[in-house]
Amino acid sequence: MKQYDMWIGGQWVEASSGESFESFDPYTGKPWALIPRGTAEDVDRAVRAAAEAFQGPWSRLTASARGELLLRLGELLVQHQDTLAETEVRDNGKLIAEMKAQMRYLPKWYTYFGGLADKIEGSVMPIDKPGLFNYTRHEPVGVVAAITPWNSPLMLLAYKIAPALAAGNCVVIKPSEYTSASTLEFAKVLELAGFPAGVVNVVTGLGAEAGAALTAHPLVDKVSFTGSDLNGQKVYEDSARTLKRVSLELGGKSPNIVFADAVLEDAVKGVVSGVFAASGQSCLAGSRLLVEASMHDRLVDALVAFMKQVRLGDPSDAATQIGPIATPPQHRKILDYIDIARAEGATCVLGGKVPEAPQCTGGQFVEPTIFTGVTNRMRIAREEVFGPVLTVIPFETEEEAVEIANDTPYGLAAGVWTQNMARAIRMVERIRAGTVWVNTYRANSFMSPFGGYKRSGLGRENGIASMREFMELKTVFIST
Ligand code: NAD
Repeated sequence: MKQYDMWIGGQWVEASSGESFESFDPYTGKPWALIPRGTAEDVDRAVRAAAEAFQGPWSRLTASARGELLLRLGELLVQHQDTLAETEVRDNGKLIAEMKAQMRYLPKWYTYFGGLADKIEGSVMPIDKPGLFNYTRHEPVGVVAAITPWNSPLMLLAYKIAPALAAGNCVVIKPSEYTSASTLEFAKVLELAGFPAGVVNVVTGLGAEAGAALTAHPLVDKVSFTGSDLNGQKVYEDSARTLKRVSLELGGKSPNIVFADAVLEDAVKGVVSGVFAASGQSCLAGSRLLVEASMHDRLVDALVAFMKQVRLGDPSDAATQIGPIATPPQHRKILDYIDIARAEGATCVLGGKVPEAPQCTGGQFVEPTIFTGVTNRMRIAREEVFGPVLTVIPFETEEEAVEIANDTPYGLAAGVWTQNMARAIRMVERIRAGTVWVNTYRANSFMSPFGGYKRSGLGRENGIASMREFMELKTVFIST
């Protein structure tokens, strides 16, 4: 079994408790790695190392030198992409095909924000008082806690630490206890890049233990959290005690809205990738299909036919299209929601159980599942399942589509499928969500802001504006 250490203050260390926990391979259901169980003591060590680096070597570097380190990290990630991809497949069950594509794209987060590091400019105000020179400076917040979930550890980490480091902060990362290995492999690459000791630290451990110690720590200035809305709320409350700055990227129940004039084949592909990619374990999953009633049967039949061809199995096999569910509790939760949907009176027209195919034996699989006869009041339409489960809700008018789309506690994303551009523009204006896709779904970029309305979060990641999430604005008056 592989044994990992944590990366604290520029050194590989064991947990001070001496304890580790097992990380499981979702395809075999067997443990494959031992992850240190970091506690409040380790968190304290990491936060102090970060605070020291922030006061010392990191703050003395020019913005250009910081940027160059990030560019170097980007290059090294290209060189180490295979190890990182394979670790994620093993630890999370992500498809190798998806991870290879992700690892080709992910270094761009570090090169984009590396390029931005020395382009942060303040302003000079034409002050209305005589004898004063007045200007602003953008300064790093200080020590940033980056708390990440299990569903896409390396990508979601990049969303946080690339802009945080470019802005001049030091970082303590706490990955999910279910998928810590890829972040520790990433730290090995980071070590090669030559960041000063303490600038980036990784403490592994449980959310309620290491995670909670991080949000409570008085030397942490900002918490950037991605995870469930309930834990996000807890992190927000805990951070409030020490008035930390907080960004939250939380859950979703995103509507994918198909009008009868949509191109059927395009809509089928968009709905399928919207909800079934990554076995539905995606915050932006288009898990509510709202379909114009006159197109309902045609679209459902096409979706069922399409999904019956899809191959489930070993995520390390390049031919596999749907992999396992990353964690045992998540597997259980998805199956529970399928029972709830049936009990609520929804009709299961595809899947709805653990697959029997031999290549799925021993793994945590759930068949791609489609429910029709769903109303937006049902729990299956209101709560985040985070699995390969699509609920289909018909609508009659554009007005009704908007009403159902917005009748959710969440507001992360939405899709609109229509050939009528005037209608698309009206829908974009009226949908309360951080991202709206028209005749496409899932597109993202390091330069495009991403984040949620309502219970889907606070703040934005990616793009130039996300640097502001990691900076304070200082105003200076000088008597002349
Ligand atoms: P989770 O909330 O269980 O855990 C997320 C992280 O928070 C983990 O590292 C965990 O250890 C830590 N944590 C848990 N309790 C904590 C506490 N009290 N204090 C500090 N840290 C704590 O989420 P998950 O199950 O790992 O991830 C799935 C969720 O993440 C889904 O709801 C999904 O929608 C959401 N998500 C959102 C986005 C987005 O960008 N909006 C992206 C991916 C995932």
